[in-house]
Amino acid sequence: MVVIASPDDRWSWIEIDLSALRRNTTAFKRRLERGVQMMCVVKADAYGHGAVRCANAMHAAGADQFAVATVREGVELRRAGIELPILILSQPPVESVQTLVEHDLMPCVFEADFALALGEAAAAAGTVAKYHLIVDSGMTRIGVLPADALELRRAIDFHRGLECAGTLTHFATADVPDDRDFALQLNRFHSTCQAIRDAGLDCGLVHCDNTPGTLLHPECHFDMCRVGIGLYGLDAAETTRSALALEPVMSVRSRVTRVVYPEVGAGVGYGMTYRVPKRNIQVATVPIGYADGLSRTLSNNMDVLVGGRRQPQVGNICMDQFMFAVDVNANRTCCPVPEVHVGDVVTLIGADGNEQISADEMARLRGTINYEIVCNFGQRLEKIYV
Ligand SMILES: *Cc1c(COP(=O)(O)O)cnc(C)c1O
Repeated sequence: MVVIASPDDRWSWIEIDLSALRRNTTAFKRRLERGVQMMCVVKADAYGHGAVRCANAMHAAGADQFAVATVREGVELRRAGIELPILILSQPPVESVQTLVEHDLMPCVFEADFALALGEAAAAAGTVAKYHLIVDSGMTRIGVLPADALELRRAIDFHRGLECAGTLTHFATADVPDDRDFALQLNRFHSTCQAIRDAGLDCGLVHCDNTPGTLLHPECHFDMCRVGIGLYGLDAAETTRSALALEPVMSVRSRVTRVVYPEVGAGVGYGMTYRVPKRNIQVATVPIGYADGLSRTLSNNMDVLVGGRRQPQVGNICMDQFMFAVDVNANRTCCPVPEVHVGDVVTLIGADGNEQISADEMARLRGTINYEIVCNFGQRLEKIYV
């Protein structure tokens, strides 16, 4: 295992493997036919991995455009000097139109009032604002309904401050093979684009595939794919697992800050939900807690890796710390379990020796998906790029 120096103000950190990120990005880019663009999705601080550093690595590995969720996320990329096109995957508040124009950020549009305000702001600045028309083809999240799409385009296209640079939709079931709802969504999207073209209007770049769509539905790559989770080396779903070999980019590590051999019966943590059951149980403390993204729902129900071995987490996870137990006598007959020491590296996500804990394993234990695991860890822990 590569031992990385901890940040000097805290014993916990996230390791971001930028070369794995570049290899994943290249692997997706190779899946796209020549001429199909790759929009790398770096919303939520690149799914917790750090948007600016990741976007730069993705750019070097073939990204054509970026997508974020909020205006602030777009501004952050622009301030860091990123010049590729940036799409905001929402229609932000109308109050933000000035900022969009100033930083050359493309919003998704599904309402005329917003689009016209954007056009006004652009015209006043002597420029043209690009936007993407977002169609709700069946997910019932955001977008103009297929029946209203052409009318919306007609209601805004006269404006000299507006240019439609793309038309998109988002699938609810792209990870389900041979899915009827997917086929319905695709059909509706297809007809909507066709109606716009038949009216003599330009759709701009047509795009709809996310990570599972890109892997399972190459027939819908169209002009661009919007790839997110796969770039970070995680499988979008069970069904895409075998489609492309990916390398996880994020590891979560910390160091033991204290070890003790409590008396038999001693309680551990708030509520004392774990009691030391016998002699020679070592209890070690680790400075990561639920405020760092380690959900309290994992209390007494997860493992950590130390010295290449799995050890059980014990007691309720605190805001900034948790404990784990080492049964030092466990394998006395053959191979004794070594004690842990203050300063030992503890791995929550990632590899240590031959053992590994994946974001998927933690997601299963929490009843969620790997997306939420990495987003959560990205919120407070310092990132170290390797
Ligand atoms: C988040 C998002 C994506 C990327 O999804 P992944 O499953 O992470 O690839 C693509 N398109 C839209 C509209 C999104 O919100």
